[in-house]
Amino acid sequence: MTEGERRRALDEVAAEVRACTRCRLHEGRTNAVPGEGHASTEVVFVGEGPGFNEDRQGRPFVGAAGSFLGELLGSIGWSRDEVFITNIVKCRPPENRDPEPDEIAACAPYLHRQLDALDPALVVTLGRHSLARFVPGGRIGQVHGTTRPVDPATGARDASVFAMYHPAAALHQGSLRQTLLDDMTRVPAALTASRERRASDEAAAEAAVEAAEADEAPPTSVAGPSAERRGEGDASVAASGSPALDQALDPVLAGLPAAPPDDQLSIF
Ligand code: URA
Ligand code: SF4
Repeated sequence: MTEGERRRALDEVAAEVRACTRCRLHEGRTNAVPGEGHASTEVVFVGEGPGFNEDRQGRPFVGAAGSFLGELLGSIGWSRDEVFITNIVKCRPPENRDPEPDEIAACAPYLHRQLDALDPALVVTLGRHSLARFVPGGRIGQVHGTTRPVDPATGARDASVFAMYHPAAALHQGSLRQTLLDDMTRVPAALTASRERRASDEAAAEAAVEAAEADEAPPTSVAGPSAERRGEGDASVAASGSPALDQALDPVLAGLPAAPPDDQLSIF
């Protein structure tokens, strides 16, 4: 998908969310909050659901928890507009209560479609409800700060998930502030690892195609293209296309081969 196609798919989801009446949460909303961010980002942050300020503005993470999220992103040199930020439910639960299972289920197709359009390398879950979607049975106290593969059934077809506490938790329990800051420092490396995995998956798939083609070709061209293709795959561990992201990742990327031309990037 091109960036324009991804943007159109995201806009279509947003328009449907704003008109949605699939669960009771539509009754109390001022504005639905579909989510926002860069259509070609590699990283999606998923919170729980809109609060008071988000409902007023129709935008995710714009209240106190949002400013801490901004601070967390800033601590690794990233900004809101180079990632995508959304929630498990897109309408505010009354009095900020937890979303109920039937509301989460009703809203799930929207997040699925957003992830399908974005094809992120990394999903960062914020809080328990988001964790439950991507790491069923995972306990936040045990899995925060760690990475797992994402089930493609979520819509993210080739992603890793990195679990974090909800930024609002730090506003209630001060000791979690430092935990969140510490976990955030691991996000760039989690992204790099997922990129490398995606690149080598792609190289392996290409090698398989080459090998199949070679089988059909005259004997002279049979001599092992797979080793070369693999080398090329390694080289495609690439810059993000975002200067700030790359700067943040610079220490990690420093030892890696130079980026290939844009048309070879698997991610952008
Ligand atoms: N908390 C969330 O989970 N999401 C928001 O958008 C804001 C606060
Ligand atoms: Fe629709 Fe989701 Fe809002 Fe429920 S929370 S009304 S499913 S957009």
